[in-house]
Amino acid sequence: MNCQEIGQLMSLSLDEALTADEACQLQIHLDRCQSCQAKWISMERVSQLFADAPLVPPPTGFAARASQRLAQREARRRGVLGGVILFMGTISLTVLALPAIIGAFMTLGQLFSYSPLLSHGLQLILKLISIGRPLVKAGWLTITALLFSPSGQPILASYSLAVFALTALWVRLVSGRQRGYQKARLARG
Ligand SMILES: [Zn+2]
Repeated sequence: MNCQEIGQLMSLSLDEALTADEACQLQIHLDRCQSCQAKWISMERVSQLFADAPLVPPPTGFAARASQRLAQREARRRGVLGGVILFMGTISLTVLALPAIIGAFMTLGQLFSYSPLLSHGLQLILKLISIGRPLVKAGWLTITALLFSPSGQPILASYSLAVFALTALWVRLVSGRQRGYQKARLARG
């Protein structure tokens, strides 16, 4: 057996995985070979060091700091999520309000094209305000609900998520169409 093979036997010996025959061969070689003897002694020492070393405890306050950092990260994540929900809610409210606003402006335009009805302009503006007020109120409610109790409004949150999902679907459809358009352009050269 050469020194390299003996080295493998040394490792096996430290793992207590040697057969009696292999242990005998190792001992015979060690008695003859000084370099393997030196190597064996240092290997045994290192092995002993690892066996004796106590498990090093984490530094004081490590757990507290780690959990604090985790909480900060969670808060940041929740803040981002809240911002996204707020943004989507605002967009959805605007989208919902848009037909009403457009309709009101169209009525206003019609009104001004008929001068006899001009006197009703003030009434229409009042009507617009009465349409706008609940919308503003709803928007304000969304903002306050999300800002001051991000977890306490499951219905609002799920509504916002539904709007978000619809928006995501819409973006996908639009980008898909754009890609199809680009592909068609590329095919045409
Ligand atoms: Zn040797």
